[in-house]
Amino acid sequence: MTETDVTGIMVYYYFVCQKKLWYFLHEIRLENDNENVKLGKILDETSYIRDNKHIMIDGIINIDFLRGNKVIHEIKKSKSIEEAGIMQVKYYLYYLNKKGLPDMTAKIDYPLLKQSISVELNEEDITELENIIYSIIEISNLECAPVVDTLPICKKCAYHDLCFI
Ligand code: SF4
Repeated sequence: MTETDVTGIMVYYYFVCQKKLWYFLHEIRLENDNENVKLGKILDETSYIRDNKHIMIDGIINIDFLRGNKVIHEIKKSKSIEEAGIMQVKYYLYYLNKKGLPDMTAKIDYPLLKQSISVELNEEDITELENIIYSIIEISNLECAPVVDTLPICKKCAYHDLCFI
């Protein structure tokens, strides 16, 4: 893969768990039967139903919905891995910036918590994201999944059995 193949979900998984990212990059998908993933899908289908949702751009970023043509929104069900969601959305802003849309802003909405946070992109984020893009390519080139520490999210992860049994 090359830097133009890096998607928003890859950036998200990079922060969630690099082993999970490796599985994803190697087409090992176990998420369809996971209760946690099903809950996320239901939340997606029942939230913000009046908005035009799932705006896929170049097959790279998939914006949950857009308000006023300037504010992209990402829906998350909890803040348990908030940093991952923030970096995913910063990648969306980075990608749109590169496509000539530097004035976009973003929000992450947590409908179950009735909260939302604003996300902006700065120069440091751009440098960090460019490093992350190359790290994701390196992970995709690994022959085996990287070794990672057990994480609090492992208990609910779709890949739990693959990692621990
Ligand atoms: S079970 Fe834990 S280590 Fe394995 S992919 Fe999921 S989050 Fe990563």
